[in-house]
Order: sequence, then C-alpha cells, then structure tokens
Amino acid sequence: MDRVSSGERDYYEVLGLQKNASTEEIKSAYRKLALQYHPDRNKQPGAEEKFKKISEAYAVLSDQEKRTRYDTVGHVEEGEAFRGSEANFEEVFRDIGFGGFRDIFEHLFGGARRSGFGEDLFGGFGGFRRQRGRDIVFEMELDLEDVLNGRKEEVEVPRLEKCKVCGGSGAAPGTKLRRCTVCNGEGQTRRVYNQNSFSTFVTLEPCRTCHGKGQIIERICSNCRGNGKTKQTKKIRLEVPPGAEDGMAFQMRGEGEPADQGGAPGDLVVRIRVKQHPQFERLEDGHVLYKLDVMFTDLALGIETKVPTLDGSEKVRIQQGTQPNTVMRLKGKGLPRYAGSGRGDQLVRINAKFPSKLTDRQKTLLRDLGREFQN
Ligand SMILES: [Zn+2]
Ligand SMILES: [Zn+2]
Repeated sequence: MDRVSSGERDYYEVLGLQKNASTEEIKSAYRKLALQYHPDRNKQPGAEEKFKKISEAYAVLSDQEKRTRYDTVGHVEEGEAFRGSEANFEEVFRDIGFGGFRDIFEHLFGGARRSGFGEDLFGGFGGFRRQRGRDIVFEMELDLEDVLNGRKEEVEVPRLEKCKVCGGSGAAPGTKLRRCTVCNGEGQTRRVYNQNSFSTFVTLEPCRTCHGKGQIIERICSNCRGNGKTKQTKKIRLEVPPGAEDGMAFQMRGEGEPADQGGAPGDLVVRIRVKQHPQFERLEDGHVLYKLDVMFTDLALGIETKVPTLDGSEKVRIQQGTQPNTVMRLKGKGLPRYAGSGRGDQLVRINAKFPSKLTDRQKTLLRDLGREFQN
C-alpha cells in the first residue's frame, strides 16, 4: 500500500474556515467570497485566479465524499475537484444572482473540449464518460501489538462490481445495445444560447435520452436492473507495515469501485485507528510509557522485579533509595518507528505505593521507624 502524502493547498484556509466547519458555514463562506471575486463583478487582476481557487475549495468541501477523502488523504485527484459539483454551485449562484455553473466555468477554463482540464472537468458531470469510480474508505483498528509487528489481514470490502450476467453493459444477454440517435453516440448534447448581449455560450450536457451513455439498451439485464453493476464483496489483502500511526492513510490504487464508462476505478483508502492500550501509553518517536507501582518500603530498600513489555516482560533492578516518579529506560523495548530505523524505548515511571489500611502491628513498626529517622 502507498502511504498518502498530504497536499499543499489548504482548502479550509482558502475559504477562511476551521476544519470542523459545517455544511452551512462552507456554503456561506463561499457565497461571500464568490460575490466578491466573481469575474462578472470583479475585474481586478488576480480576481479570476482567486475565484478559481475558492471554487475548487468549495467544490471539494461541499461534497461529503470528496471532503472525507480530502480530510483523510490531504488531496483529491487531479481533475476530481469539480466532478459532480454542479448542483452545489448552482444553488449558490442562484442565491447571488449569477449565471449557471457551466457558463462561468466554461468561460473560465476555456473551451470544455479543448483544454485537458476542461475535458476532465466536464467529463465528470452526470453520466458523462471518463468518470472515475468512487473511492472506498475502510477504517482499520490496530492495537499496539499490531503496530509492533505490522498486520496482514484479508478483509471483505463491499463494493459495486461489474454485473456478472451482462458484463457491465446493463443489457440483458443476447439483446443488443443501440447507438443513441439523439446524441449520435456521443453521450452529450450541445446547447447554444446567449447569456447576455455580448457573448454566446456553448454548453455540453449529458444526453437525456441515453443518460450520457451514448447507447440505448433494448432490454435491461434483470440481475443489475440495467445498472451494469451489482453490490458484491471482494476479498482484499491488506498489509500494514510496523510502526503505523493513528490517522495515517494508505491508498490502494484501483481497488475502489469500477467506473461506469471506461474511466479509471477508484481507490481503496485504508485509514488507521490505533486503539488505546490498557497498560502502555504511546509517546513520540516510538517510545512507550509504562507506570510501575512499587511499595514504598521496596523503594527504600531496593528490589528486583518484572516489568511487562510489548514483547513479554523484562527484569528490572530498582536501586535502594529510588525516588517516586523516577523514570527508567528499557532501551529498544518501545515501538518501531514508521519508515525510520529501529525501535523506541520503554519508559518506566515509578509510582510509590502506600498502604491505605494499616494493622496495629504495622502502625507500631512505622512509628518506631519514624522515630528512628528523626534521631
Ligand atoms: Zn447486468
Ligand atoms: Zn444520447
């Protein structure tokens, strides 16, 4: 699995938001900034760039799936940001009285079919072709023993797979797919109209007759009801290397859901959760902390005792006169460092234990001892 690196742009920062911003806050922040930087209104140099940036941030954060992916892996795929965001933009633009999403974006990013970006951008609407399959996020819970040794596991990931009956076409076996005559098999139709007196816009829309597929099914496959996909579980072997940290994400390319029309499949994103351990506290750099209770008399006299470690146990010698909160260090008994060298240490903090109840004899002995120390 590939460790995912975090992206450079911070979408939250671009919109002036906290990471826990609500859907409403995201929309309202974008609405305010869009009013300020919309190219119909703001002709200052740099405004258009700024508008593109805030729009990209909004496209990602206003979509729950994309936002989760962004929060998890720190970026979205090139060309993914605007995919399927049309409705979210339309809503805001309607509020602030500007033209539709397509108008403005086609205008900003140039002819939709010419620039690579435009093609990707517009390729993603509705049932258009070249749509990438969805990502699947899988949470994996590890305990510290898994962090120590790494974990290999076969998991069953539920995902939509190509229908086995029709092979993904959605057409009942033996029947044919017909080319859509409305869009001539293109999957999209052109619409030309005047936005205002200065400019003419040409927009591409998914063909309504064939739902962007370019083909019409004569009789639909009964197994998938024409979807071409059915819910199936797939066994996937996951291998988490030693030293994994809480919140890390690993990406398995192409193990997400398949795309509709020849696009790349999505990814499986494995997010790591590390459970708290009842005995050990994980510190930075592979170190772990263990708290050892020692009776105050043993501290005073010194004692040899056993301390549990992640691998088993270790004998330690507590010197005579050791003070409470002294920290001892068991070299190399901590956790492996992720993608680093060696293991951290186990720190053992000594906690002095005092009896909460005393017998008469114990009281007498302690009083005698106390007097002894006063002399
Ligand atoms: Zn089918
Ligand atoms: Zn069509």
